[in-house]
Amino acid sequence: MHHFHYSGSDLVCESVDLAAVARLYGTPTYVYSAATIADNYRRLRDSLAGLDVQVCYAAKANSNLALLRLCANLGAGFDLVSGGEIRRVLAAGGDVRSSVFAGVGKTEAEIRLALENGIFSLHVESEPELARINHVAGTLGVKAPIAIRVNPDVDAHTHAKITTGKSDNKFGIPLQHAAAAYEAAAKCRNIAIKGVQMHIGSQLTQVGPFTEAVAKVAPFAAELKANFGISYFSIGGGMGIVYRDALASGTQTWWEALPADQRPLTPELYGATLTPLLAPLGLKVLLEHGRFMVGNAGVLLSRVEHLKRGAGKNFLVVDAAMNDLVRPAMYDSYHETVPLHRDSSRRALKVDIVGPICESGDCFAKDRQIQEVGEGELVAFMSAGAYGYSMASRYNTRPLPAEVLVQGRTFELINTRETFAQMTAGEKIPAFLR
Ligand SMILES: *Cc1c(COP(=O)(O)O)cnc(C)c1O
Repeated sequence: MHHFHYSGSDLVCESVDLAAVARLYGTPTYVYSAATIADNYRRLRDSLAGLDVQVCYAAKANSNLALLRLCANLGAGFDLVSGGEIRRVLAAGGDVRSSVFAGVGKTEAEIRLALENGIFSLHVESEPELARINHVAGTLGVKAPIAIRVNPDVDAHTHAKITTGKSDNKFGIPLQHAAAAYEAAAKCRNIAIKGVQMHIGSQLTQVGPFTEAVAKVAPFAAELKANFGISYFSIGGGMGIVYRDALASGTQTWWEALPADQRPLTPELYGATLTPLLAPLGLKVLLEHGRFMVGNAGVLLSRVEHLKRGAGKNFLVVDAAMNDLVRPAMYDSYHETVPLHRDSSRRALKVDIVGPICESGDCFAKDRQIQEVGEGELVAFMSAGAYGYSMASRYNTRPLPAEVLVQGRTFELINTRETFAQMTAGEKIPAFLR
């Protein structure tokens, strides 16, 4: 469910006409729906009925300060993967004390920053990292709260670049070595064992791998509770969103028409399946979803530069590119692309939708059926809220795009489009070239 739909012929976000946003702030521009994020947060929070749940929004999916503040206002903590993200939570007025710090290569400075700001827990990915955290905590005279990330060796059946819970991935400690790692942690003077963590991958569209992983780790979590008095089990994030029928998936009932095995994964199904496995543990449960929280809450608005008619192919050249939204180039991902103004009298065209960057990979869609649109008209790439802006770059000296947040009838710019001066501010010509 989300809050993007056609009102008459015009695509709106909540009660805001998206063409008006594009006129005011130009393109390419990301637009997010606050109501969608709030709905997603509440559905996650309520998914494990009767359990003590803390949602830690995975900030790397989209770390704009306004979105972090919105999540903090809703009651979320954060799953953070760098010192920069810790600073973002502080800058947004979020709560580091209900946040966790993950990642395979935390530096000493980042560990210090996390501890100085009272992080809820550090998620440890290896034995050498445990030693480093113990050392930094010692220099600060504190006990570092930790959980060890265990790798349950479960195939998430997702894209290879976003699978994290197989034994050949770089993440976590294999379940069979985890008991020894906890024994080692218990011997560290400056470590306080608080929990256990796992995260098996991203964009999971079936509940099976989650069930398998939780079932595998739950007996170990029970052992840790008995032996070390742990208080929480973080089951990670990774819930997938609908990309292919993105616009239709805004309504609550659209999937009821689908066969049972083709229905999307929902927090309700996730919760109903996992609650019986988690409830007997009597542990607090942390949920670290990023994509699910913001993915379907954002679109990327873009203007058509040309409709280029080729010999065998038509190309829709738009002003957004792989630097703005890299997912199609990087993960072969699908983003539904729709006109901002729907016109049933236009015919449908089959096009490749491409950006202006000098790479063949700068392609949003191949052989896509779309209503004919011409120069100057606007389109939206749906489901672009997660891993969109946060993965954007300045490739081809293209400025980072603008971002806008909608709430009801109001909307505000939450990130200005970068200027040339900002893009080059850190660069200089050395004396020996002058
Ligand atoms: C990236 C990440 C998440 C969030 O993944 P999503 O697929 O966006 O839900 C959660 N936990 C950890 C440790 C991560 O690295």
